[in-house]
Amino acid sequence: RTAIVLFTRDLRVHDNPALATACATAEQVVPLFVFDPALAGRSPNRDRFLHQSVADLREVLRGRGSDLVVRSGDPVAETIRLAGEVGAEGVAAAADVSNYARRRERRLTAEGERHRLSVRFFPGLTIVDPGLLKPGGGDHYRVFSPYHRAWTAAKWRAEASLPKKVPLPPGVEVGRLAAEPAGESPDAARGGETVARQRLRGWLGNVETYEDGHNDLAGDRTSRLSPYLRFGCLSPLEVAHAALRKPGSDPFVRQLCWRDFYYQVAYAFPEISTKAYRRGATEGWKSDGAAFDRWREGRTGVPIVDAGMHQLRREGWMHNRARLVTASYLTKDLGVDWRLGLGEFYHWLLDGDVPNNSGNWQWTAGTGNDTRPYRRFNPERQRERYDPSGSYVERYS
Ligand code: FAD
Repeated sequence: RTAIVLFTRDLRVHDNPALATACATAEQVVPLFVFDPALAGRSPNRDRFLHQSVADLREVLRGRGSDLVVRSGDPVAETIRLAGEVGAEGVAAAADVSNYARRRERRLTAEGERHRLSVRFFPGLTIVDPGLLKPGGGDHYRVFSPYHRAWTAAKWRAEASLPKKVPLPPGVEVGRLAAEPAGESPDAARGGETVARQRLRGWLGNVETYEDGHNDLAGDRTSRLSPYLRFGCLSPLEVAHAALRKPGSDPFVRQLCWRDFYYQVAYAFPEISTKAYRRGATEGWKSDGAAFDRWREGRTGVPIVDAGMHQLRREGWMHNRARLVTASYLTKDLGVDWRLGLGEFYHWLLDGDVPNNSGNWQWTAGTGNDTRPYRRFNPERQRERYDPSGSYVERYS
């Protein structure tokens, strides 16, 4: 039996349930990645990071005696075509939550049926599957604290084993990888499971400093694992398990729960990037193009806001505290529509994804899950508190 493993945003071999199951049940496994032109061009930074992650996955698979077939086009059509070429009987892939991904899953299932292929989707995007935990009388959790309690008490799945060998059938045309796209941020992190695992190992030595240090803007004492979680170069479950073996890691693991929280919100409310989530949220935003331009270019004259926006452009990443301050400033001080801010972040962020970007923007704008929707972060006070030496502002001036 031959199975195709269609990689999407699970670009890793460790704790990859689709890959592990295929390797355990099929005699031959064909790993596939399809560059989808419909998804390219939204963010040059993420296009580059994706390319690096795919190139790394190919190397990692080659190290296991296999390879990665790389195609370009509609992932459903390309998968079906490859299945015909290699005589595959099954397709394994990771389940995802976005509208686009869910449509792709439905199409792949329908096309699979037409071609007598068994198509299966596997968990792994989050620690606890979106849609699994439900409060009494509701379809999903709207407030973080009760979700966190349920999430902590839930039985997590066991990690998938690392396949020793990925037996590729002979003669498969693997395809060439195009040249690496340029990206836009000069200091952006590099993609790929190999770098991700090095970073994770380094971070685990610091995890107990997270509680005291995670708001220290200049100290830069967060994990910076978010782009790797975004593209699945790391499994969030593996990260949580590894952290929990270290003392004092609960505050960090709680942040991973925020990630799961927004995934289950987006799963239940797919319009999250365009529509106010909270019923009755007040929305009268201004459309002040000049103020928005000053904000996005880091020219507001408010030092901490400008520094955050410069960091975003330079690194394709911004410290969480700066994200809160810049987003609050745009929406609560300038009164500009959160959807514009969301679009700007989505363009630059290596970790930019629909659930976390939209969920956090709505939280900050007061249209989302914040139980105190009128809170505003005073930029001056935030700077005094979280950048008292002024080093962050200076670094990103
Ligand atoms: P750490 O502090 O080390 O946390 C570990 C992990 O926990 C992160 O990698 C991330 O996966 C998760 N996490 C931490 N904080 C949050 C949070 N508030 N919500 C959800 N998950 C969290 N995160 C994204 O991954 N993608 C986005 O598009 C995104 N957009 C944001 C937009 C705004 C306006 C704000 C305020 C926050 C946004 N965040 C987003 C959340 C958070 O800022 C980043 O996840 C975090 O800064 C990433 O850095 P880190 O990996 O060092 O995080």
